[in-house]
Amino acid sequence: MGCQEMALLLVLTGLVSAGLHLPEPVYISSVCDVQRHCREVLLENTALSGLGHLYQDLKHRVSPAGLAKFEQVRAAMDREWTSTSEWVLAQGAAASSTAREAKAIQKDITASFGHRLMQQYVAVLGEDGVFQDFAPCGKHFKRCPLPHRDQYYQGMRLKMHVAGTTCLDYSSMGLSRKEMGESGAILAIWIKQRLLSLEDAVIQECTPRFDPTVFQEFLGEEYVIIDMGVLNPPQFGWPASRPRRYVVFLRKKTLRLATTVKQFVDGMSFFYEEVHHDSRIFLCAPDEEVESMRASLSAKKFCGPSTSFFRLLNGTQQVRVANYRGLPKVQKMKADGKAVAMNIDQAPDAMEYASAICPTLLTRSTLWSDWGLRPYLPKEHLVIMGVPQWKPFWESLGLSGPFFKASMLCDTKLKSLAGNGMSLIVVGLLQLHVLSSVSKIDNPSEDA
Ligand SMILES: [Zn+2]
Repeated sequence: MGCQEMALLLVLTGLVSAGLHLPEPVYISSVCDVQRHCREVLLENTALSGLGHLYQDLKHRVSPAGLAKFEQVRAAMDREWTSTSEWVLAQGAAASSTAREAKAIQKDITASFGHRLMQQYVAVLGEDGVFQDFAPCGKHFKRCPLPHRDQYYQGMRLKMHVAGTTCLDYSSMGLSRKEMGESGAILAIWIKQRLLSLEDAVIQECTPRFDPTVFQEFLGEEYVIIDMGVLNPPQFGWPASRPRRYVVFLRKKTLRLATTVKQFVDGMSFFYEEVHHDSRIFLCAPDEEVESMRASLSAKKFCGPSTSFFRLLNGTQQVRVANYRGLPKVQKMKADGKAVAMNIDQAPDAMEYASAICPTLLTRSTLWSDWGLRPYLPKEHLVIMGVPQWKPFWESLGLSGPFFKASMLCDTKLKSLAGNGMSLIVVGLLQLHVLSSVSKIDNPSEDA
């Protein structure tokens, strides 16, 4: 489900190395990822994190028979969805409703089918033997107990889980199939794991279009579910855009919220501040790394479609950069002494992304700094997400050293990792906000 567990790992380690003491040990639960390179990075950093297990893909938690059943219910629902959708659209066309109305109707149908499909997935997961107690672990290279069976995990006083939900089906760039898409099954497995492991607090993240009401039916009995709305790092003084919807779950039996829910949501504004850095804060790579990058990429021959980055570096395709520089707003920002970040994967006449705030990173973004007169290095993409890589940067955050290594990764993977990641700034502040707003109920009635 993305790199969310790594984000938690980074934030926790970052908070601790920044001298912040967490009130209680917080367990980094159920690390899993379909992406091999995320697992590699996690493994490389386990010593820092005390990472329990590295469970890999959420699908490993479901028996093969369960997964086969998933496919069956999805195929059946998909057939019904398609035919109903077509029928309603045909009716709509007959009644000469506008294209916009037809689209709205189709959206409602998708939502109601998606909801029914989630109900069916969760029902399958409730059947005997479908949800596993053990799953392949990339740290111990055997099948290890899942969080709800892990003694170490059970012994923790305060359990917090952070997750990013696969966004493809909720993104404007994806298929917008919501729960009807491939990721619906993954979301159902994630929900089931929460019901079994019952962490005290959960933070979930997805694209702004994600609809958190899907959680109410399945988790609403155990949790107060709080939609924090869309949070973006620039609100907190961090000059990189990453607008995402965040949802906080607080377990009714074990946590007491010191405020009302509304006060809790509004309370995030305590951390708001004016953007006080501009994007040149990210351009802190040592000169020799910049130069060696230029040299090695200039020597490369072009092959395949992904060559714009290389062409930029060796100067054969500077047209887009020149076009950006010609934009009046870019010239004004430069006149004001601001560093300008451009996403040159987008043509300036179509998107015109040039700002003192770094654009949202995509897995293949190519950012260019007009201040440094160069593209951002792949490691700088990690820095944009809040992961220190070089001394000037971690010192500016008051940290005593880097708390994260990514030496195993090649540049393409680094960029993809950063482009899939959650903003550490926002995740860390949300964690702090949760920890400072709740108290643990010491003797929940279930133990009596
Ligand atoms: Zn293990």
